[in-house]
Formats: sequence, C-alpha cells, structure tokens
Amino acid sequence: MTAQLILHEGREKSLKRRHPWIFSKAVKEVRNAPQNGGDIEILTSDGAFLAKGSYSPNSQIRARVWSFDREETVDQAFFARRISEAAAARELMLKETGMSASRLVDAESDGLPGLIIDRYNNFLVLEVLSAGAEYHLREITGALRELFPEDSIYERSDVEVRTKEGLELRKGVIYGELPPEELAITENGGMKILVNIQEGHKTGYYLDQRDNRAALAKYCKGKSVLNCFSYTGGFSLYALKGRAVSVANVDVSQKALDIAKKNIVLNHLDPGRVKFIREDVFSFLRKEKKLGHTYDVVVLDPPKFAESKSQLEKACRGYKDINMIAASIINPGGYLMTYSCSGHMTPDLFQKVVADALLDAGRDGQIVEFLTQASDHPVALPYPEALYLKGLVVRIK
Ligand code: SAH
Repeated sequence: MTAQLILHEGREKSLKRRHPWIFSKAVKEVRNAPQNGGDIEILTSDGAFLAKGSYSPNSQIRARVWSFDREETVDQAFFARRISEAAAARELMLKETGMSASRLVDAESDGLPGLIIDRYNNFLVLEVLSAGAEYHLREITGALRELFPEDSIYERSDVEVRTKEGLELRKGVIYGELPPEELAITENGGMKILVNIQEGHKTGYYLDQRDNRAALAKYCKGKSVLNCFSYTGGFSLYALKGRAVSVANVDVSQKALDIAKKNIVLNHLDPGRVKFIREDVFSFLRKEKKLGHTYDVVVLDPPKFAESKSQLEKACRGYKDINMIAASIINPGGYLMTYSCSGHMTPDLFQKVVADALLDAGRDGQIVEFLTQASDHPVALPYPEALYLKGLVVRIK
C-alpha cells in the first residue's frame, strides 16, 4: 500500500511554488505511514498528487520533497541524476578558479533535501541531516561510487540537528580510505589550506567563505589586520598575500590556531608578521579597546549566534556588541569586514545592526562591498532559506 500524506485544505500553496517542506501543521492525515524517512506521496485535501517525498514523523518538518514528478522513482539512479546535475552546475566554476575542494551538493538547493556533500580532493564528505536522506543512504553512496569511482567517502553526520529528525549522531568511513589528519586542498587557484576532515568544523573547512577570503587581500597592503574568529587562518593567508604588515588571529580553538600556523608556512608567507591568540573574541576586543590598541582592518566572522528564530534578538545584541567594539578600534580610513552566518538574520536586519553598532561606537562608515556565500552554495529560487551568509565591508571614517 502506498504511503500517503494528505494536506489540509489550502495548504498546498507552498508546494505549488515548489518549496520542498511540509510542516506538521499542514498535515491532515497520514495513511500507511512508512518508517522514519521512508517514501510518501503528498496529496491535496481532495486527493490530487503534489509530490513524492520522505516522511519524518519526529520533526516539525514532517516531509521533504524528493520530486514533483509522479513518474520519478527515488532509487540509486535518481540520486545519480541529481548528483551529476549538481556536479555539472559547478564544473565551470571549478575549472576557472582552480579549486580542489568545493560543495558538490547543497541539500534543498540542489533538489536533495537534508544532504550535503563536500568534496576535498578525492574525499567526498557527507552530512546527512534529514530522515529521508538517512533512509536512502545506501543508494546515495551507491550513486557516488558510480559517479566518482576513485573517491573515498567519509561521513560527518555528527551534528545536533539530526536529533530533531530522530537520528543519532555518527561519523566515520563509508567507503575507501580514512582521510589524513591534514589534507592539503587548493583554493582560488593557488592558496593551500590544510583540512582536518575527521575533526574539523562542519565537514572540515568553511568553503562558503572562499570568495570573501580572496576579497580581503585588496584592503591589506601595508596595513595591520585583526582576524577575529580566525579558525585555520583562511582570511589571514589572503591578508598576507595582500601584503599586510601584521596579522593577528584570534580564536578559542588551539587546534585551529595550530593549523593556521602551518597554513602560513605551507604558503611560504612570513610567519614573523603573524600572531596567534587563543582567547574569547569578546574579551579580547574589550581588552584591546582598553589598552588603546588599534588596527587598520578588522575581520569578524563569528559562529552562528541564532540557531532559531527565538534566539534572534539575543543574537542581534551579540552582533552589535562585537561590531561596536571592532569599529571603535579601527583607524580612520580603515575597514571592517563583518559577517553573519545566521540564516534567521536577514541581510536588511544585519545591515541595520551594523549601522547601530557604528552609531554607538561614534564612528561614521560607508558600505563598500556586499558579500555572500560562494556560488557552490546556491539558493534555489523557491527556497530562499538557503541564503544564510551575509558580509559587509565597511569603510570607517
Ligand atoms: N573565518 C574562518 C571561519 C570562522 S568559523 C574561515 O574563513 O575559515 C568561527 C570560529 O570562531 C571557529 O573557529 C570557532 O572556534 C571560533 N569561536 C567561536 N566562538 C568564539 C569566541 N567566543 N571567541 C573566539 N573564537 C570563537
């Protein structure tokens, strides 16, 4: 018997606009409920076919769409088709820019809800975030082996959001070799970066900031640069390439700072110009302000402050706080490069928070660049939620 999910009257509108989620409140009835993540047909209140999806009884997002085509079967061939479409969409970018690492599949935006695949050289790293992607994991890895027979497959499904889908956290080799502790990838045609796939953040590295790291170089010639929330020093490498006279990395993670040090040597940049400070950025910035230390360029790339909508107000205070102190220690004519990766924070709101921060710091500023996530993190038009990374370069007067 086919599993069927019937919507309340009028709740089909978002699906007709091709948004891939069905919230629990929209569901009138479920017939022949499948196991967690199993396939289900999604129907209007009067029984008309809308989509095929996966059922997730534990989650507020009760189902996610695999296909709007009634004839399409969700099997290994389906995943091979979607993954090769995603790979083809990125082919030109990879060729033109000399990358050995990129996001191959970006979940909902590539028509594969809950599935992230990052590729670092010959390692495919999966993040399985939905019950549906979990249910079809064998077919997904089968499709990957078919498309990338030379590659090893590693899983980094050790993320809290999985619990919302009734899934346990997990990581490890799915196929092939164990990734080395330090895998050197190439980005933007020449910069080498060491990535720890097993232990690093996300799948090992912040691929989404790739273009923005390169964008920093042009502001740095002869300047002092402070890289807050530096992780493995990505922004600092480009600051040095842009001939900064000094670069300070601040991060709470000693492991990340240790890799940052190695990245500088690996790229034949001058370690004598670089400091590594293991400290909380909030208290570091306050101390610098008190001491009267100033910088020409400050990068702020904090972790996500708002995990949910309810945390947004508190997150705004956090963003305002660091941006205010950062602005107050920037020399006149210098630059603040500031980011928010909280999806719940809209670009408009972020700009307002930064404007308020400068006002409180008593500084004037002008936005000279609007930045966002790299193009291998696309935003499918029916799914605007995929836009999460916002960056502003503000010239401080
Ligand atoms: N800019 C980096 C990515 C930054 S990710 C890149 O381009 O690769 C955010 C970083 O902030 C992580 O490395 C994390 O260890 C660090 N972090 C989180 N909270 C912090 C805090 N309160 N003070 C200092 N570092 C923090």
